[in-house]
Amino acid sequence: TVTVIGLDKTGHLGGVCTTSGLAYKLPGRVGDSPIIGAGLYVDDQAGAAGATGVGEEIIRIGGSLFIVEQMRGGKTPQEACELACKRVHAAAARRGVHTASVAFLAMSPKGDIGAACTPRTNFQYAVGKAGKVEMVTAKEVPATM
Ligand code: ASP
Repeated sequence: TVTVIGLDKTGHLGGVCTTSGLAYKLPGRVGDSPIIGAGLYVDDQAGAAGATGVGEEIIRIGGSLFIVEQMRGGKTPQEACELACKRVHAAAARRGVHTASVAFLAMSPKGDIGAACTPRTNFQYAVGKAGKVEMVTAKEVPATM
């Protein structure tokens, strides 16, 4: 998945995502990326969020909308992404399965950013600001946190 979220100079957030889906997917499978609220959600008032990884797990918790609503409630983008990972862990634990690989990234209406992923996901993302692009490794959130 390629997800881009950004803040323009007039203060509007925007987002886009595209994916080839998962390898060996069943014909007709719909992942998280085309579902607003799962793979992507943007609200000027609260923030923007996007996801990558095993779409079924992201859809299950409404990942991107969950993150935006956490930011609306006062969480930072980083806190909100980590909470989404914990939700994914909890949903997996309830089903008695190991957590799948997922990652989230988020931006507040002020342009603060955050990202988090489940263990062994090694999610790296690019942050572009004032003509500079920097690669950042997302924090991994263990199931026991
Ligand atoms: N999230 C995508 C899907 O489940 C896969 C990916 O991130 O590459 O369709």
